[in-house]
Amino acid sequence: MISSRKQLHHTFKKQTVDVSTQILSISLQKFLELLPDAVVVSDMKGETLYVNPVAEKFLDVTFSEIRGKNILDILPFAPQKFLALDILSKLNKGGSVIEELSFVTKKGAEFHGIFTCTAATDEEGVPVGVIGILKDNTERKHHEDMLYFLNKAGEELASTLDYNQTITKIEELIVPRLADWFSIELVNDQGDLELISIKHKDPSMIEFALELRELYPADKSGNTGTYNVLRTGKAELYEEIPDEIIKKTSKDEKHYQILKKIGFNSVMIIPLKLHGKTIGTINFISTKESGKRFTENDLEIAEDFARKVAYAVLNARLYASVEKELEERKKTEELLQLAQEYGNMATFSWNLDSEYSSNRNISMLYGTREDATMEDFQKIIHPDDIEMLKATINEAIETGDFYAEFRIIPDSQNIKWILGKAKVLYENGKPEKLVGVNIDITRLKELEQKKDEFISIASHELKTPLTSVKAYLQLMERMMVGDEEKKFGGFLTKTQGYVDKLSHLINDLLNVSKIQAGKLEFIMEEFDFDQLVKDTVESIQNTVHHNLVILGSSNATVRGDKVRIEQVFFNLISNAVKYSPKGDRVEISLSSDNEFVHVSVRDFGIGISNDNLVKIFDRFYRAEHSANQFTGLGIGLYICAEIIKRHEGVIWAESAEGGGSVFHFKLPLLHHL
Ligand code: ADP
Repeated sequence: MISSRKQLHHTFKKQTVDVSTQILSISLQKFLELLPDAVVVSDMKGETLYVNPVAEKFLDVTFSEIRGKNILDILPFAPQKFLALDILSKLNKGGSVIEELSFVTKKGAEFHGIFTCTAATDEEGVPVGVIGILKDNTERKHHEDMLYFLNKAGEELASTLDYNQTITKIEELIVPRLADWFSIELVNDQGDLELISIKHKDPSMIEFALELRELYPADKSGNTGTYNVLRTGKAELYEEIPDEIIKKTSKDEKHYQILKKIGFNSVMIIPLKLHGKTIGTINFISTKESGKRFTENDLEIAEDFARKVAYAVLNARLYASVEKELEERKKTEELLQLAQEYGNMATFSWNLDSEYSSNRNISMLYGTREDATMEDFQKIIHPDDIEMLKATINEAIETGDFYAEFRIIPDSQNIKWILGKAKVLYENGKPEKLVGVNIDITRLKELEQKKDEFISIASHELKTPLTSVKAYLQLMERMMVGDEEKKFGGFLTKTQGYVDKLSHLINDLLNVSKIQAGKLEFIMEEFDFDQLVKDTVESIQNTVHHNLVILGSSNATVRGDKVRIEQVFFNLISNAVKYSPKGDRVEISLSSDNEFVHVSVRDFGIGISNDNLVKIFDRFYRAEHSANQFTGLGIGLYICAEIIKRHEGVIWAESAEGGGSVFHFKLPLLHHL
């Protein structure tokens, strides 16, 4: 009884065990099916007893296809087969084996994982089968890489200031390790994103991408993509890119096909921000080929990296602009050096406390040593010009501007003409330095001399035949009889008028030559100044239409050259008439004080600009507008100035463009009448 009860109990227990084993087996199978890791069960020879769905996917087979087949035949690559063989032999003794695996899958994607193999033993502890579990660690490894290499790239950014060099290094660290494509875009002045760099391991792909960019430029108003990131300043992460997104983003069928061909797998667009302003984006793209997937964690690291990139861009830009400026400065200096050498020009800076500093060219110009002192220079200056130079420097200290033409004698055989132009630099109102240029104008002076010689010879040569023409005209006038006078009288008067003009001109030219040579002669006598003015004005009035009005009187006797003073009146009044074509009046005002007679000639004509006002007394100088509209040689005022100066008087002009002109001069008087 007991035994049968025992029997019964045993049977019941066996049945219960069978059921629970069954339940356990089903649960286990379900568990294995749901497990994210690949599981392969084989016997000790490697014959496959079970693979879960993840393993099916991984090995690219179905369980029914490989049931009973040897795992060694299924594994695609030789190294894997060897590994499997090695593991099997190790497990023959029981225990387990753990291997870290990294390889490229059949589709070309990188794979990182941990493979744990455990021997299943029977009751006696003899290994009967193998359970292999492969844990996919690719994403984690990718993330670790991301952390490591982006950090390294960040360090790289800080290590150099060369823009291009930095970018190349970064690209090399990122592609293809972290992304298949990497690009940097910066916003330009027009608000457009400009591609600064793009990298892919295959250069032909870059060309392809550039073409694509040309053909299908990024949508500026789209609510996704680079421009959206630029606008919002928020990063975009696409862990996966399903076909619908590609379809939605593509502009037409061709675009869709191209995008599909690129095979986007995962994308990160990160804003580059500087002081809260988005200045561009960095873009990470992985393709289906590598199968890399960017995650939220990666985004965080990439954003941190983007901050470093933004500062590096700022620094590199600043550095580049400084470099450019330095380069430009170098170029300017080279040009200046060239100009100095070829233009026989030298710059100088003279400390007014007598310490002298110069450049190389000033030594070339003066034939002095590099370390020449101010005293050395003074010895070289022509003795006749030293006083004038000293006076000009003193004047410059007052006015701020230095201008002088002077001679130097660099060696016993040579005299050089130098033009010195400089500015006085002041510190706290105290003159500190004279900084400027010296130009060798010897050649110019020689040419000027030749020109003067030519003018002198030509005017002499012209004067002789003109005197004869004048004489013959007078003869003809006298010899005319009867109605000849009526017929030719008018022509004769006109011809005489022209001859007079010509002889004035030639006289002026002769006078210029004489002034230049220091040979203008004066015949001094005492005369009644007002009378001279009256006579001169009357004679000029006969030849002009303007009304010449004398205002006031000087009541003075003057000692001077009557003819030359007449010439001054003639020149000033002729100019007043010539340069006021719309005016009809010229006023000649006379007055005197204890020392001087004062004359002013006022017209209501075109006037003279301020720039020209300082130069009109120079030889051959003519204001631009009058040079085009009125004939003249630019010597009349030069002669006037010389004549007045020789009488120890002063001449000057006041005018405004379009507002008429007043020419003044003062002459010392002998006594009042
Ligand atoms: P020219 O009259 O032969 O040119 P001048 O030496 O007499 O030479 O005068 C020099 C320049 O000064 C003239 O070319 C002209 O530009 C200017 N100028 C002289 N007088 C007057 C004036 N009264 N009004 C305006 N410009 C004048």
